[in-house]
Parts: sequence; C-alpha cells; structure tokens
Amino acid sequence: MPFTSLGLAPALAEAVAAIGYQTPTPIQAAAVPAALAGRDVLGAARTGSGKTAAFALPMLHALLARQGTRRGLHGLVLVPTRELAAQVGEAIRELVQHLPSTIKVSIVFGGVSINPQMMALRGGTDIVVATPGRLLDLVEHNALVLDHTATLVLDEADKLLDMGFADEIERILALLPARRQNLFFSATFPPAVQALAATLLADPVKVEV
Ligand code: AMP
Repeated sequence: MPFTSLGLAPALAEAVAAIGYQTPTPIQAAAVPAALAGRDVLGAARTGSGKTAAFALPMLHALLARQGTRRGLHGLVLVPTRELAAQVGEAIRELVQHLPSTIKVSIVFGGVSINPQMMALRGGTDIVVATPGRLLDLVEHNALVLDHTATLVLDEADKLLDMGFADEIERILALLPARRQNLFFSATFPPAVQALAATLLADPVKVEV
C-alpha cells in the first residue's frame, strides 16, 4: 500500500517520500486513516514500528488544513523522557521541513532552565512535545494554554506510568478540552495502562503490530 492511499494531504505524501519512506509501516497503515477520520487510536507498538509518524502525520494533516487560521496549540505529545522528547520532536520537525508551510514544533522537558523554553513558546506554537512535569510548570507560568488542544498523544504510556507521571497526567487531562482526539501508544498493557486507556479513549480503533 503506498502512502498516497492513506488519505493524507499531497504535501505530506511528498514529505514522506522526500525523507525516504516508501511504504507505510503496519502501524501507519492502520492508525493514519483512523486518526484522519477523527477516531481515537489505541496502539500497541514499540520503538522502531514507525509510531512517531503514525501520530505525527494526522496532526500535520490537520494543521495544513487549518493554515492561516491560528487557534492556539493543536497537538500535545506527552513522553516519559527528555531523550524521547528530543527524538520525537526532531522527527516531527524533519517532516515539517519538507512542507510548504510554517508549522512550529516545540520540545520541552525538565532538568534544564525553564526560561529559554518560555521564550521559545512566545508567539504561540502548533505542536508541543513534552515531559509531563515541565509541561505543567509552563502552563503555571502562563507560557502555554491548553484550552484548544485538538489532539492529545500519549507516547510510551507504560513508561509514563512506570516513571510515576500518573498524577501529572491527571492534572494535564483536567486542563484539556473534553472534546479532543486521543492517540494512545504503549509497548505493554499492564492493568494501570489499561485503566488509563479506558479513561482517556472513546471507542478507539485498536492497532496492534
Ligand atoms: P519510530 O518507531 O517512530 O521511532 O520509528 C523508527 C524508525 O523508522 C525511524 O528511524 C523512522 O525514521 C523510520 N520510519 C518510520 N516510518 C517509516 C517508513 N514508513 N518507512 C521507512 N522508515 C520509516
């Protein structure tokens, strides 16, 4: 199946081709059409499956469609570690570089000074890739408003819970609009992860690879 049959904007199909992806991975082939249709997605996927593009492409598709009409933060991607924040954020930026529009991707994580991150968020942003604690700090500093978030992604949900982020995630969920899309990815599904998925997701399309 070619990328062009997933329903993505032509500019995105061209961007993946420019990066060198020839065919969608199984998780992309299943998750992208579901997300484009507005569905929640529950993905059982590990690193190496292509899950980053599986959640990034639908967000970028929506951002291309709303070009010119800024309505605040579109996509929030929560990740467990600074390394993953950097890796995911850079992967999304690589796609954006091949698009004919300016989409801002911000990467924020704890353990470093908050001031440069606050400065970088000035003027708004389209997609934020964040570790949970620092995200809350930035909201408390009024550097970020989550009121209009259209899509929430939990990447490596099992690791988010293993690292003790359950409370932070709960506080973040309370700041998000009730009407939103949720894309949930985890490598494993112990009971705590299943419970979080059950509270978050509405009738999700289940994707296993
Ligand atoms: P991920 O699981 O998202 O961390 O992706 C793992 C690796 O696969 C990354 O290096 C991606 O650049 C690469 N990748 C993702 N999707 C594709 C694809 N459709 N074809 C080839 N490589 C891909």
